[in-house]
Amino acid sequence: MSEHIIVCSTTSNMLKGEKALRKSGIPVRLIPTPKRYGKLCTTSIVIPSEMKSYAEAILQKEKVEYTGIYELEPFRADGLLPEDKKIGEDFAALIKKIESGEDLTLKEIERLLATENPAEIEALLAAGDRMRQKTVGDVVDIRGAVEFSNHCRKNCNYCGLRRSNISLPRYRMMPHEIVEAAVEMRKLGISTVILQSGEDLWYTEEKMVNIIRSIKRETGMRITLSLGERPRHELEAFRKAGANNYLLKIESANRKIFELAHPDDDYDARVKNIRDLKELGYITGSGCIVGLPGQRPEHLAEDILFLKEMGINMVGIGPFLPARNTPFENMPPGDVLMSLKMVAVARLVLKHVFIPSTTAMATISPDGQKKGLLSGANVIMVNFTPLRYRKAYEIYSNKAVVTLKSAVDLVKSIGRKLPPYIKEIE
Ligand code: SF4
Repeated sequence: MSEHIIVCSTTSNMLKGEKALRKSGIPVRLIPTPKRYGKLCTTSIVIPSEMKSYAEAILQKEKVEYTGIYELEPFRADGLLPEDKKIGEDFAALIKKIESGEDLTLKEIERLLATENPAEIEALLAAGDRMRQKTVGDVVDIRGAVEFSNHCRKNCNYCGLRRSNISLPRYRMMPHEIVEAAVEMRKLGISTVILQSGEDLWYTEEKMVNIIRSIKRETGMRITLSLGERPRHELEAFRKAGANNYLLKIESANRKIFELAHPDDDYDARVKNIRDLKELGYITGSGCIVGLPGQRPEHLAEDILFLKEMGINMVGIGPFLPARNTPFENMPPGDVLMSLKMVAVARLVLKHVFIPSTTAMATISPDGQKKGLLSGANVIMVNFTPLRYRKAYEIYSNKAVVTLKSAVDLVKSIGRKLPPYIKEIE
């Protein structure tokens, strides 16, 4: 099916256009703008080509400003495979299949993930990096996170914020403190704030709407929410108030593993909540944990296909890290190499998506975050939680702290580009 891409002049025009098209029944998906069509770190709308004229009429009627509508070239990505590597013929054939723009099956994705051949692993990570370069370019997007509450009503077996962890000192930031943290990061140039918390219903719909409106009014930033599951009407209210993105991880798309890790969550409810986000026009993030008990490459392949089928725009992949005082505290951590393979395969299969090199990668290995950026990732999240609260946001133990300075240094050290909005600090 051929597709067209609509590149808008500003983010607010893109979001307005996306909403108008969706309301008119046009199937839309959002992708990071490929570098040949416009500015990096922006998002564009993709529609079926046969609906181009109808879409143009709607955009004109709604006065949405756009810089162009272009035929989205069928994706080919030659040159993913390094030469003279000792890799299996079937493995090479799969990379070739990706180069020609064909989709991989579950078994084929599993084959890529399951490899233990060092030459194949090296080739896979390099292919992920080349695909990153071809799809989203060299800029590393830098976003700021505020972990504003570590209270949680849930009891996930891997997470240090779980409600049964009575040894964790709990905190809640007041709404004005959250807005102040966003203002501070805006001063440094950051243009997207991630508001993250446990599932804490103290922050009612009304409180969150006021926080979102205040941040929009005072900073104009893009707002990403990561509040866990919320009823659809609340998600809609947050969206109307100005929230742009929402992160809701599935953690494992395999029902059994999901249920083992989430004793009080319902798999179908989680999937429905992610669908709600898409329908409400959020740029939607999800992702998975690598190394949960019982997880094998075939389950991770399921995760990749789940993210593809759900049309996820931001993909968070990190190794499992044990948290003190949780049922999983004595489980072994996830494997760095498998996490890197997942980043690479996510990039190869999902292509035009935002993939952070996560704080969990920085925690599990001193150069984990760097390796993530070199295997397909293109985003870093910087921690702006006030120091007095930071230590208590212990989703897992010994969490690394990613600062703006460490992020900037890392991007420079690997020869990648900083986004234009970042004001460098000494
Ligand atoms: S993973 Fe999220 S929902 Fe589960 S206990 Fe931790 S903070 Fe709460």
